[in-house]
Amino acid sequence: MSRYPFARINLTALQHNLQQVRYYAPHSKIMSVIKADAYGHGVIEIAKALEQTDAFAVARLKEALILRQHGFKQPITIFEGVSTIEEWQLAAEYDLTLVLHQQQHLDYLLTAKLNKPLPFIWLMLETGMHRLGLAEQHIRQIIDQFTGRTDLVDEIGLMSHFANSDLLNDTRNQQQIMVMQRLAETTGLPVCMANSAAIISLPQSHYQWVRPGLMLYGASPFAYKTGAQLGLKPVMQLVSKLIATQQLKAGDEVGYGGQWTADQSMRMGVVSIGYGDGYSRHLSNAGKVIIRGKEVPVIGRVSMDTVCVNLDACPQAQLEDEVVIWGTDALAVEWLAEKAGTIPYELLCCVTPRVNREYL
Ligand code: PLP
Repeated sequence: MSRYPFARINLTALQHNLQQVRYYAPHSKIMSVIKADAYGHGVIEIAKALEQTDAFAVARLKEALILRQHGFKQPITIFEGVSTIEEWQLAAEYDLTLVLHQQQHLDYLLTAKLNKPLPFIWLMLETGMHRLGLAEQHIRQIIDQFTGRTDLVDEIGLMSHFANSDLLNDTRNQQQIMVMQRLAETTGLPVCMANSAAIISLPQSHYQWVRPGLMLYGASPFAYKTGAQLGLKPVMQLVSKLIATQQLKAGDEVGYGGQWTADQSMRMGVVSIGYGDGYSRHLSNAGKVIIRGKEVPVIGRVSMDTVCVNLDACPQAQLEDEVVIWGTDALAVEWLAEKAGTIPYELLCCVTPRVNREYL
């Protein structure tokens, strides 16, 4: 049975990237962000390989419970927090760290009778992103409410998230840090603010904890720099194979809608990868693949299971040849994401379960 297409996941590269986080933020603890199945890399294997991390973060309670069921003992933060009394109780039972960003959620916590306190709660401060977060005054009141409530929580800290940390020299980043700094100074609480882009470019935002996601997986959060330029190594290499070739004559149209027409006699190849595997349809007539070290353009529309490529760019190509879809220096996922009008986060997360992950 063919193993193609599959994603080669290089765990040594992952560990190298974790070291790079330590290089950029040497004085901070690391909360490795492994939500959305570790950005599509497979959360269990990734969590195992990240044993040197200080903590994990996921988006939802369900993701945290899966990690606990697999025996992971590290602190796990749930970014979305939890809402109902039952969820708070479950979170406490499983020693989960919560993010608090809604008064209503706090009201539930105050009425929930916990068998044991939560280990940690991050109070999400609104510093300018206007997504999840509470105003400074509100957070101060909550801090007062938690004082002496050892039945509810062992420790609290302050969290916030950047809206524009991928933009260098954007003054909004400094404004967000100033809002956090005011509260951090007066409360003395630990702070967690920096995502990958801030870890690399905003050292004043590192505080006690940093929260890398994308950079762990070896991709650059900046449009103007590649992962390699930042000292990162791609963790996922997506590969498939050539399952068909055809000789076309001038005027032949390729694929659904005939969106590409041969202007001369040429050889066309069909690669076993499509939007059903997570290969964006926006790469129709725009993407490229690598065959035998050669860059080969995608022609016509991306289908659910296949893409067509122009083999005139690689005359030596043969049926069954391995095809690199992304994940080398010559074909970075960041480059492809830009071609698809999206970000590398989305391409990585969207690799579907049909694609096997193979761990090196
Ligand atoms: N913190 C929060 C709240 C996030 O939502 C994310 C990712 O979306 C991260 C940290 C990690 O960000 P990045 O992948 O850019 O490092």
